[in-house]
Amino acid sequence: MQIALDIVSYGVVFAFGITIGSFLNVLIYRIPHKLDFVRGRSFCPNCEHRLGPADLVPIFSYLALGRKCRYCKKPISPRYMIVELIGGLLAVGAWATFLANPPLLIANPWLVGNTAPPLAAVLFFLVLCILLTISFIDADTMEIPDGLVIALLVCGVLAIVVGPEVTLLSRGIGLFAVSVPLLVLTLVIPNAFGGGDIKLMAAAGLLLGWQGVLVAFFIGIVLGGVYGVFLLATRKKDGKGLFAFGPALCVGIAGALFFGKLIADWYLGFF
Ligand SMILES: [Zn+2]
Repeated sequence: MQIALDIVSYGVVFAFGITIGSFLNVLIYRIPHKLDFVRGRSFCPNCEHRLGPADLVPIFSYLALGRKCRYCKKPISPRYMIVELIGGLLAVGAWATFLANPPLLIANPWLVGNTAPPLAAVLFFLVLCILLTISFIDADTMEIPDGLVIALLVCGVLAIVVGPEVTLLSRGIGLFAVSVPLLVLTLVIPNAFGGGDIKLMAAAGLLLGWQGVLVAFFIGIVLGGVYGVFLLATRKKDGKGLFAFGPALCVGIAGALFFGKLIADWYLGFF
């Protein structure tokens, strides 16, 4: 009986996450185009035909319509479905971390001593959604919108209340722990990092504390490095080719959110 209940609750949470992912697709498209993302109907980016409710069911519409626009028949990129699926997985991750029975308390720096798991789960998922949106916008445009960094900063302020496990001092140091070295590096080597990356890591520092943001940056550098080598190997870019570092940093921040405490404990165990 408990297992059946678990399956149902995970299913509902996954469906919820997919729906949010569908909205994130709208943000990812509209923020860089400076379009209103609250009002305004969704339309096909190719033929600009308005989409009806039957075209907007996450994942199912895409598969049912044969991965093409119903009106102009132009193939639709699978990325929309991928964003929806990631949204579903992130919601499941937030649920498992805070609300499942038993929750995966050990992995999370916000959790110990936390008295409001539902609040923490919502904030956690919100942060992950912002990171997902930043990743795709940065990959598309090589820019991280300031509005999304500010949203992350606000989450960092809320985290002070929701996650007392990370001290205010740690969060304060976190603001500068990665961002200032990146700023100095970028002043010495122009274009080493973008301004958006620097601001992103400042906000992440407030959110995670200095230990967490170091873990996040370490994961980001490894992923970004691997990706850079991959680009060099496959597209034969000259060594100066720029690519968006934001997605790697966002994955690092998400990794630190989920596993930061685990990684820090494991690492500090060597000393
Ligand atoms: Zn179309």
